[in-house]
Amino acid sequence: MARAVFLDRDGVLNALALNPITQEWESPHHPQEVEAAPGMTEGLAILAGAGFKLFVVSNQPSAAKGKCGLEDLKAVHAVVALMAASSGAVIDEWYYCHHHPKGIVPELSGACPCRKPGTFFLEDARDRHGIDLAGSWFVGDSDVDVACGRAMGCRTVLIEASHSEGRRGGVLPHHRAPDLAAAATIIVSHGGLA
Ligand SMILES: [Mg+2]
Ligand SMILES: [Zn+2]
Repeated sequence: MARAVFLDRDGVLNALALNPITQEWESPHHPQEVEAAPGMTEGLAILAGAGFKLFVVSNQPSAAKGKCGLEDLKAVHAVVALMAASSGAVIDEWYYCHHHPKGIVPELSGACPCRKPGTFFLEDARDRHGIDLAGSWFVGDSDVDVACGRAMGCRTVLIEASHSEGRRGGVLPHHRAPDLAAAATIIVSHGGLA
């Protein structure tokens, strides 16, 4: 069976962006706001080189909340995907939840199974890609990432990224790292696939 590293996106692959209206750090809403997070390309290259399948699992509720359109989020995705590809790593799936329980756009609002810490996408990866979840990892900068990984028996690395301090501290990760390169080094030190 294949092993995987599930990756949160914002705060892991790309940096959070300062929303000029709310003055809060959140996911980028426009392509020009996308900046690579520290250690992103190096981390992806380490993980791909060790033979892990790579899945991005990301909550993106800004369109549901009316802060931007789905087409804006698609444009942001395209830039992040291009940056990730520059590492030489292949991302097997980009799993996005665009829902929010209290959104204002009806078709994107309400309860859904895919919003982290919901495990829908991990189960999809297990079922469609043959992933051994007990041998897999979840890397993210928020409690929901750690909770999502733990719920499916993955080991977890919490990235202590800038500007997301308020989104963590309530769930205990297996490991902590300053960025994706350091997280990848921890994961590989526990055994790659070779
Ligand atoms: Mg995040
Ligand atoms: Zn969802």
